[in-house]
Amino acid sequence: MSERNPDANRLGLDYRAEAARLGKPVVPIIDAHIHVNGREASKVFKEVATLYGVSRVVTQTRLAEAHAVRDVLGSMARFVAIPDYGSADRETAMTSGYLADIETWHAEFGARLMKLWCAPRLRDLAPGPGASEFVPLDSPWRVKQAALGQSLGMMIKVHIADPDTWFQTKYADATRYGTKRSQYEPLERMLDRFAGPWILAHMGGWPEDLGFLSDLLDRHPSVNLDTSATKWIVREVSKHSRAEVVDFLTRYSGRILFGSDIVTTDEHLMAAKKAGVYSGELASSPEQAFELYASRYWALRTLWETVYDGPSPIADPDLAMVDPARFGPTDAPTLRGKSLTPDLLRVLYSGAARRVFGNWLD
Ligand SMILES: [Zn+2]
Repeated sequence: MSERNPDANRLGLDYRAEAARLGKPVVPIIDAHIHVNGREASKVFKEVATLYGVSRVVTQTRLAEAHAVRDVLGSMARFVAIPDYGSADRETAMTSGYLADIETWHAEFGARLMKLWCAPRLRDLAPGPGASEFVPLDSPWRVKQAALGQSLGMMIKVHIADPDTWFQTKYADATRYGTKRSQYEPLERMLDRFAGPWILAHMGGWPEDLGFLSDLLDRHPSVNLDTSATKWIVREVSKHSRAEVVDFLTRYSGRILFGSDIVTTDEHLMAAKKAGVYSGELASSPEQAFELYASRYWALRTLWETVYDGPSPIADPDLAMVDPARFGPTDAPTLRGKSLTPDLLRVLYSGAARRVFGNWLD
């Protein structure tokens, strides 16, 4: 056993013993939002998923690694069409390259869901003069990509906004990034234009404001949400009362899909210095990678299923980003369990994904 992962296991938990203590979930869990990469990391992930009762994953995997991930995960995995974000020629990868990749994902990997990643910081990653043609969610290239995906029978997943903490800090310049609310204007135009179904990642990008999400869900019946982004979801859902969360999940039953946003890569398994490619910030050995991945399922299952009221085991640097006088980078928010009923858990963990994805999961 190597040393524990300090950022993913602040509490010194034995995540194998904790999985046994939590027991089997009320129904096998479908993780509707995850990024599994790396042959070896996939093996570590598969052990974690099996321990925590996750039976299916809908994964945004790098195309170059999809064969390896499929070898390891087998029938557990469903693949999402994504652009080649890491390409040296990002502009091509996000435009014509993505059109070609959508076809490949569909033909070779049976993808029935495509991703439109539209985080405000894409403006920094794609600073070229052509950015206005593919960065805004309703820009010409995005429209072409959505049209192609829909013609192939794909649903559309969107990342539209980031945490309020980011709009208070790194996105404070609204003339560059827009306000948080303005992110939703191109989204609504696309929701009117394409039938979907749509899945808005990270509780629609606004877990801080269930009222805003209710309004969006009421006005757009094609919209569904996933609950992925563990640190963000744990921090913000914990702040809502149990009654508020139960009311929301009951009212939109079948439209809120469980997700983790776990990211796996073989770089997590390598000692940082030897690999020379990775800082080792998240994990730098198989055991640290195990704790990194397990911490997400531990935190999410504890949030949704239990009455736990205590520190999250996962360091959340957003606390220090907003209030550096009060918090350090390894501090964590309070996790307040919502002890959902078995009926609500069954829909969140499985029923909603089965309703939206249908026989793709069979
Ligand atoms: Zn993600």
